[in-house]
Amino acid sequence: MRIIFIGPPGVGKGTQSQRLLKHFGIPHVSTGDLLREAISEKTRLGRLAQRYMTRGQLVPDPIVLQIVGARLEEGDCQNGCLFDGFPRTLGQAQALDEFLADMGAPLDAVIELKVDEDEVVRRLAQRQRGDDTPEIIRRRMHSYWEQTAPLLDYYQRRNILYSIDGVGTPDEVFGRIKAALDARGHKPTSP
Ligand code: AMP
Repeated sequence: MRIIFIGPPGVGKGTQSQRLLKHFGIPHVSTGDLLREAISEKTRLGRLAQRYMTRGQLVPDPIVLQIVGARLEEGDCQNGCLFDGFPRTLGQAQALDEFLADMGAPLDAVIELKVDEDEVVRRLAQRQRGDDTPEIIRRRMHSYWEQTAPLLDYYQRRNILYSIDGVGTPDEVFGRIKAALDARGHKPTSP
């Protein structure tokens, strides 16, 4: 099972992705986590990425793609994974298609979590992360609407997009995600 999770910052992707990982028993490929790891390990890519991340800007595609490419070569990704925060640009989406074609591994589903902007700002205000100042939040939202939202069309055309209402308790939202995937026959394989 290969799933992409898309949604603006603060939409509850973190909470829901943890549930999906457990439900399907697949590894997590979060570019935000991988980039933060590269920064804390002081790698060359980490140093390059840091200046964009601290400004709330998207890290350039070539840096992100090197990190994702390396992650996909690890053994645990052969049978599936959950992409979280990736792809964020059309260029990344096209590169992911190429990575997956190379692995002979199709994409099964793209989940879009939707909540209105006031709710997102309220949720982000409760988080405590260095890159969550109001100005940076505003920029990250802008990057989302400018660069990431167009991906929804890209996947809609392939008929693998599931748009899920993200308002409600974590259980309610997860119930909707599961129901949408179940309806298309995407169930966990029994152990
Ligand atoms: P996240 O943890 O997904 O909210 O990402 C935190 C920051 O990492 C973002 O604001 C970007 O600066 C950077 N980032 C994470 N994933 C990507 C990506 N796929 N493309 C570009 N930048 C990314």
